[in-house]
Amino acid sequence: MSINQLDEETINQIAAGEVIERPASVVKELIENSIDAGADEIDIVVADGGRKKIVVEDNGSGMSQDNAKRSILRHTTSKIKDYNDLWNIMTMGFRGEALSSIASVSQMDIVTKAGSSASGSCIRVEGGRIENVKSVASNQGTKIIVNNLFFNVPARKKFLKSRNYEQKNITDVVIKYGLIYTNKSFVLRNEEGILVEKPKTNSIGENITSIYGLDVGRETFPLRGEKISGYVVKPTINRSSRDYISVYVNKRFIKSKIVEDAILDAMKTLIFHGRFPIAVLNLEIEPDRLDVNVHPSKKIIKFTDENDVYWRVYESVKGGMKDADLFTTSSVKPAVQETFFDSTKNLENSGNSPSPSYFKKKDDIQGQLVCEQKEDYNIGVNILGQVHKTYIIIETKEGYSVIDQHAAEERVNYEKFKEQFTRGGIEKQELLGGFTIDLTAAEYSLLIENTEKLEQLGFGIEDFGQNCINVRKIPSSLDSDFELKDTLLSIVQNNFFDKKEEALKYMSCRASVKAGEELNNKQMRDLVNKLFKANNKYTCPHGRPTMLRYPLSKLEKDFKRVA
Ligand code: ADP
Ligand code: MG
Repeated sequence: MSINQLDEETINQIAAGEVIERPASVVKELIENSIDAGADEIDIVVADGGRKKIVVEDNGSGMSQDNAKRSILRHTTSKIKDYNDLWNIMTMGFRGEALSSIASVSQMDIVTKAGSSASGSCIRVEGGRIENVKSVASNQGTKIIVNNLFFNVPARKKFLKSRNYEQKNITDVVIKYGLIYTNKSFVLRNEEGILVEKPKTNSIGENITSIYGLDVGRETFPLRGEKISGYVVKPTINRSSRDYISVYVNKRFIKSKIVEDAILDAMKTLIFHGRFPIAVLNLEIEPDRLDVNVHPSKKIIKFTDENDVYWRVYESVKGGMKDADLFTTSSVKPAVQETFFDSTKNLENSGNSPSPSYFKKKDDIQGQLVCEQKEDYNIGVNILGQVHKTYIIIETKEGYSVIDQHAAEERVNYEKFKEQFTRGGIEKQELLGGFTIDLTAAEYSLLIENTEKLEQLGFGIEDFGQNCINVRKIPSSLDSDFELKDTLLSIVQNNFFDKKEEALKYMSCRASVKAGEELNNKQMRDLVNKLFKANNKYTCPHGRPTMLRYPLSKLEKDFKRVA
């Protein structure tokens, strides 16, 4: 066997494998180059999920003809000169590998004009080889056109997935940049129209509005911290995956479990287990305290001081929540919880004082419930009113009881769904004319792929094209328009189809009144009556109590009427 010296083309194709995995990686590298070139308008057009064509056009510095020719060679970069510069990187790129990699596995045109050049240049490259160079009229900036990605590497082409899948990945990349850069506009288009349109804004909060919509944008609060900027959406709007937590270091998108955990820990008491916030957070860290050169596509970086990062993020979220007065508006209110814990302690008259982690002590709850179950409520209870739009107070034969309105309705809905489900299917209601929902390309394809399964859970959806679906039927018990989109997405993202019990619990939660919603007398009475008829009226499907009893004897004791 002889040892061969690989030719430049093969070396480039091998290197390309590391940087360019799929169309979305091309989009990422080209956007980063545009950002590094100082562009503030970046337009992206893709065809066939980027497999056929990707165009990224910017109004940045542009390149002279000589530089443009050099840019597609391996290890050519204008961003660093030697290894020492690696510790001082403020640009997205520095390895000089992207353009050479993309060029070696596609048919690429570079149209570019530097501010100082009289005319622009158009350079045609095929499989890494320059085929043609000509002068053209053009505006300052750069337009890179990537045709037929992997046309000369069939093995890689074979690994590309469906058009929808590749498109989703591209959309996600554009969204990540769109969320963090305020003074840059991003537009992403495909054959069907505009998928992302993010204008220049004044804040990350405004970016969130333009990308996730007004309903979400309205609910954001800014983070408070030095060298940390960003916005978090109030926990009343939440998602079923971590994908909506976007973390950046010096505006470079990264995946960081440490940072995600810090955000989640700070919001722990305010968000249901298994639900995640929408957040966009940028950390400014001196380049010499980072090693960005860890991962080929630079998504993973090493923090020199992870502990410090964790606590800074944690405090910034806590501080933001405090400024936003979140504790008085959100569904779980520590102040209310404290009185609740105290009452429980006195009621049980036990020596050991429950801590705020009371909910975690399952035994205590069960003890409490056993004593509850002895009482048989008669249904004609007297409703005294609602406290903090969260708890219903009723007078009972023995004293009074406090009902958690959300937990109570959850229990009622859960039993109803369960019964319907075992009887053959969730009861549906037809929506007059349907309800159209605009989605991102990714969300759209996910829902369309699962149309049949959704039908079994009581949702009838129709493809309206152009990232839009029409919802024709929903379970009879659901009525919330706004939550519909999130409900559908959560079901498919969590693949609840294989976990029927989880699906039922989730849907009963969604169908239920929330803490913080005002109820009139009739609504309270209906809810209380239904709860009393439930098979298991004392806990919600997640195991938390639905009602707590406060007997007269306790009041008498507290007021020292009796010894
Ligand atoms: P890197 O970004 O790591 O330097 P690339 O291969 O992505 O490597 O790009 C090589 C060089 O080409 C860059 O350093 C830059 O000088 C130039 N370049 C690439 N894209 C653009 C662009 N959109 N506008 C101006 N210059 C660009
Ligand atoms: Mg680059």
